[in-house]
Amino acid sequence: MTASDTLARPEPATTENFDVLIVGAGISGVGAAYHLTRQRPGTTFVVLEALDNFGGTWWTHRYPGIRSDSDLYTFGYRFKPWTGAPIATADEIRKYMGEVISENNLACHIRYNHQIASASWSSEDNRWTIEATRTDTHETKRFTANFLWMCQGYYRHARGYTPEWPGMDRYKGRLVHPQSWPEDLDYAGKRVVVIGSGATAATLVPAIAADCAHVTLLQRSPTFFISGRNQNDLADTLRELEIDETWIHEIVRRKILHDQAAFTRRSFEEPEVVKRELIAGVKAYLGPDFDTETHFTPQYRPWRQRIAFVPDGDIFQGIRDGKASIVTGEIETFTEKGILLNSGEELEADIIITATGFSLNVLGDIAFTIDGKPLVFSDTVGYRGMMFTGVPNMIWVFGYFRASWTLRVDLLSDFVCRLLAHMEKKGARRVEVALRPEDSDMELLPWIDPENFNPGYLMRAMHLLPKRGDKPEWQHTQDYWREKDELPAIDLDGAEFRYA
Ligand SMILES: Cc1cc2nc3c(=O)[nH]c(=O)nc-3n(C[C@H](O)[C@H](O)[C@H](O)COP(=O)(O)OP(=O)(O)OC[C@H]3O[C@@H](n4cnc5c(N)ncnc54)[C@H](O)[C@@H]3O)c2cc1C
Repeated sequence: MTASDTLARPEPATTENFDVLIVGAGISGVGAAYHLTRQRPGTTFVVLEALDNFGGTWWTHRYPGIRSDSDLYTFGYRFKPWTGAPIATADEIRKYMGEVISENNLACHIRYNHQIASASWSSEDNRWTIEATRTDTHETKRFTANFLWMCQGYYRHARGYTPEWPGMDRYKGRLVHPQSWPEDLDYAGKRVVVIGSGATAATLVPAIAADCAHVTLLQRSPTFFISGRNQNDLADTLRELEIDETWIHEIVRRKILHDQAAFTRRSFEEPEVVKRELIAGVKAYLGPDFDTETHFTPQYRPWRQRIAFVPDGDIFQGIRDGKASIVTGEIETFTEKGILLNSGEELEADIIITATGFSLNVLGDIAFTIDGKPLVFSDTVGYRGMMFTGVPNMIWVFGYFRASWTLRVDLLSDFVCRLLAHMEKKGARRVEVALRPEDSDMELLPWIDPENFNPGYLMRAMHLLPKRGDKPEWQHTQDYWREKDELPAIDLDGAEFRYA
């Protein structure tokens, strides 16, 4: 935010005050609101959301076929049973979230069309002042809150990430990013190239292949895929036995998490075996003669990037049936008609879709200040991937990569509610984390270890993220199985917590 922005923005007529302000009405923000009403009844709060509806990711993304790649037993909240097929469409996820909102009277707490521009902490008042612009009326709204619960996700919702390639301006066809899918896009009978190799590309290609003349998936390097039926046998059996849905949800979650833990462990302990298994899964659809070495054999170890789940191997079926094809290569330049690759091959296309990922933003592009001083997050050290040194009364919800994001939403909600109760008991108005004496010579490292997890959108934004230490307290370990025991056991009077 610049001084001229401040001058340009009209003074709000009123300031509303809440105990807690939740940023974002995606799956994290709605979960936070639920837990706050249940675990801290009487706490006043508001949820501010920039979009015109709830859902976050599942409202922003509207491309054909948009679906989860996690199962909804674990991507769903622990408190609301999931009763459908494990992999769900965006509409199904929003329906589920809508039920959480209506069943728990959360709607009255959510304000849509409120884009938060700034958040300023005052140590004198021990509270945050938050300014938001209404995206519909352009009014400025001011709020104060003692505690800020950041559920803004990890990427810019307004626009996806598209690399700059030479010649892009020469291309005469239509260029589309899946994050801003045009409602009028007519791909029937068209030649389409989808650039990308992640979950979005893998979802989009089978969803449009039947209607297009042909779809080419163009990737620079391969990704690991795992396919299976979109069905959970254990859940189906338990349903046949007329077991209560609440029980089914809990039992199936435990079974999935148990199996995922074993798989994750194996991907570290015997990466080559896991790699061979994943590739064999692809070969089972495409046959032994398909060049899986070029197109489906990544250079990295399994789980160093998210493994995309493909229900019923639908993308492989499209390739096998000839409606889709896959090309692995580097783009040399865009041409008038399509894309020229370094190999000399030219891909002609009426439509090019850049499924090239997100623009990561650390905290919702909000200008933060602490007692008038701009806050630079990359100068802070992250406490268990949820608080920052020197930043009072704020929690940051950043989920898991190797397990469903939402598992962490529930765990962090318990932590925040416990922390708020602890502050109340102590009569404290302020809490922040600080390095302990034993951390004074701790080496500070980039937020995530690229050996552990290294997708492009994180690597591009590492310089914006807080620092990591070499002790678990100062890391986002990405390990649900550890955190489910560690987070509830955190000693809130430990030396890293400072209250006032
Ligand atoms: C296509 C796609 C598929 C995915 N599939 C999976 C999956 O299967 N499993 C999985 O675990 N993860 C998946 N993810 C990751 C996914 O984003 C998270 O799991 C989860 O949906 C994030 O929820 P969230 O509420 O934290 O953030 P978001 O869904 O990003 O929601 C954040 C909300 O905060 C609002 N906001 C942000 N900044 C501001 C501001 N300054 N002022 C006001 N409001 C603001 C945004 O408008 C948005 O509505 C997927 C991501 C994408 C893009």
